[in-house]
Amino acid sequence: TEPETTRPFDAEVGRLLDLVVHSLYSEREIFLRELVANAADAIDRRRFLALSDESLALPEDAAIRISIDKGARTITITDDGIGMTAEDLASHLGTIARSGTRAFAETLSQAKEADRPSLIGQFGVGFYSAFMVADEVEVISRRAGAEAAHRWVSDGRGGYRIRPATRETAGSDVILHVKSDADEYLEPVRLETILRKWADHISVPIQLERDGKFLAANEGTALWRKRKSDISEADYAEFYRHLGHMFDEPWATIHWTAEGALEFSALLFIPGHAPFAVTEDDRESHVRLHVRRMFITDDARLLPGWLRFVAGVVDTEDLPLNVSREMLQATPILARIRKALVNRVLTELKTRAKDEDAYRPFIEQFGAVLKEGIYDDNDHRADIASLARFRSTANDALTSLDAYVARMKPEQTDIYYLTGEDAERLKTSPQLEGLRAKGFEVLLLADQIDFFWPERLATYADKKLVHAGAARDIFSPAETSDALAVLAKSLQAALGDQVSEVRASSRLTDSPAALAAGGAQADLALQRLMRRAGR
Ligand code: ADP
Ligand code: MG
Repeated sequence: TEPETTRPFDAEVGRLLDLVVHSLYSEREIFLRELVANAADAIDRRRFLALSDESLALPEDAAIRISIDKGARTITITDDGIGMTAEDLASHLGTIARSGTRAFAETLSQAKEADRPSLIGQFGVGFYSAFMVADEVEVISRRAGAEAAHRWVSDGRGGYRIRPATRETAGSDVILHVKSDADEYLEPVRLETILRKWADHISVPIQLERDGKFLAANEGTALWRKRKSDISEADYAEFYRHLGHMFDEPWATIHWTAEGALEFSALLFIPGHAPFAVTEDDRESHVRLHVRRMFITDDARLLPGWLRFVAGVVDTEDLPLNVSREMLQATPILARIRKALVNRVLTELKTRAKDEDAYRPFIEQFGAVLKEGIYDDNDHRADIASLARFRSTANDALTSLDAYVARMKPEQTDIYYLTGEDAERLKTSPQLEGLRAKGFEVLLLADQIDFFWPERLATYADKKLVHAGAARDIFSPAETSDALAVLAKSLQAALGDQVSEVRASSRLTDSPAALAAGGAQADLALQRLMRRAGR
């Protein structure tokens, strides 16, 4: 038989454990949310894999079962999910695979002590939260399709041990040996209260043992299938938090049922706050796809990447329950659902954009991501551009392109913009001087994506978008004098091939000189950005 192995945690796990256990005391009850969520994920994963491999099929009574042994001071959370092999146990529970968890550890360690509990609101802390209430955690697991089972055990300090174990069926048991100061969690009523708070929407049955009997602890209602009139704001908000591990209020809730040629229900949320790193890491949408209530996958890219901050569920009658991965990629039904979803979200945003004050929080959180759509989305480019907001030289408020166009001077033909890395610094750029003297407004663009979309968009409301540095032909020819010509010549000689040309210009009013990008070259700030990226 295999010997027992003892291993230390990754350094990152050690740090995270320390922080979670010592700084989130007031939020301890979330351990149950995290462990039940993992159990539900494991069952969903097994159901999905079983679509292409019958031997992995879930038992008919698949559930999450929670029991308490007061005498032994243990809480056991059992699931019929996909289970873990010995290697899975080591890599999933001994290292931090998820970049989100790493980001959490970093943010938490940099946060002030007093701010830490509220930070938990923004992140899921995962499996390690078990150590907030347990001084020892055991996981007995058997991977579906495998014979062998293993037992992982740790006191949450230095490391963990793994050895062979027995388990009758596939799935996992997470056994918490409850700390002496966490007695409250050995009361079924306490656990029931926690479960009722946020687990009602988990579609997998959750059963809590009371007096020897397992009783349903969640309703498992598919909220999105209910009528809007039967759902309260609080129900929506609770479901939203459950969906995305979020703890704020949704900024927008969009719930509708499509009938006719295409039948589906959709419940989408625009979050109140950007989940950390929404612009980096993962650029795909993870809106969940259900078929007749059953969760299928959150990988179906139901929305384009520039709407990846939208969380939600789409449930359709029009696909078979045993839909395969290949079919998900090929079916025209999903393509049509995708189209309907984007249009519905755009309509919602257009409606909300009419009230600039109410719209601003959205732009602050997701404005930069939205602008990726101007670059990426051939079908909706102009619509997205009309929804974006920009800083400009006109005033301190954000402006839309429509408002810019309405303010254009009668003699102004183009929309001017200037890109850079810092909007404040752009305000003082010499490149603005000539335009400012003419009273022409300039958009100040300082997000990374701003280096890319203006050229793609090219025109808005039939006006050309022109980089301030390329707005040359509107200026009257510069006065020329012999002295200027001599100066230009000697500057040219001094700078050599660092510049292609030194030229007198009437565009500068205060500054003696400015750098400009020549005709077809990418603009200066972009050139700098690309150089830094090593291109
Ligand atoms: P996350 O759930 O966000 O990935 P966790 O720390 O909660 O992060 O869990 C880490 C990983 O451990 C999971 O991604 C999963 O692979 C594995 N895991 C945890 N609990 C279970 C379980 N009950 N069954 C199967 N795998 C699990
Ligand atoms: Mg988890």
